[in-house]
Amino acid sequence: MLEQGIDTASVEGRAMFGMLSVLAEYQRELIAANTRDGLAAARARGRKGGRPSKLSSDQIELAQRLYDAGDHTVAQIADMLKVPRATVYGHLNKRVDIAPVTQEITVAVDTPASTSRTCPSFGYEPTTRAEAAHQRADLAVAWLHADPDRRGMVISRHHCRHCEPGQQAFDVACSICGDGPIHAGPLAEQAKNSNLTEPVQRWLAAAGWTVTLDLLCPGHA
Ligand SMILES: [Zn+2]
Ligand SMILES: [Zn+2]
Repeated sequence: MLEQGIDTASVEGRAMFGMLSVLAEYQRELIAANTRDGLAAARARGRKGGRPSKLSSDQIELAQRLYDAGDHTVAQIADMLKVPRATVYGHLNKRVDIAPVTQEITVAVDTPASTSRTCPSFGYEPTTRAEAAHQRADLAVAWLHADPDRRGMVISRHHCRHCEPGQQAFDVACSICGDGPIHAGPLAEQAKNSNLTEPVQRWLAAAGWTVTLDLLCPGHA
């Protein structure tokens, strides 16, 4: 009788087969243990289901509360939680907020200046003063997109919370103040995998950034 090329009819063969079986069993246990360790380590890092998340559920809740309260910009919340703004954007609830009835609602009165609060991308108009404050802060952030008309060029757009790019986002951060535009969509994916791409560097240089050694915004260049 042959098992894995070993003649189990002989005494030596049976001994060899027994030894190999023990080794195989040992290896299976080792792999299982490593897998368990890997899962435990992943859990310890706060990762669930394979999608890396730099914020705990408590932090996400806090970020949402601060954002909804309207006193903090996304940049301030990101600073507080020591994560890039893109991470905060990725976790904020994108639903349209329905203000609780107990809260005093101030309907924005139309004035000539109110056009600046309008989202330039899709024209969303904030309806409450708190929302207008949010929107001003949100619109201050430049999002970098691949230029649909010119190959190899990037353009910047400004987004309110209703049209801001979901899924992928990746910060460009001034090494002094941490401020900067955010890569959106496929650009974010590229930025995660490499340094600043040529088109993004060109955009930054044109906007007054220093991109040679340290990344410095126009205010710190
Ligand atoms: Zn918008
Ligand atoms: Zn700066």
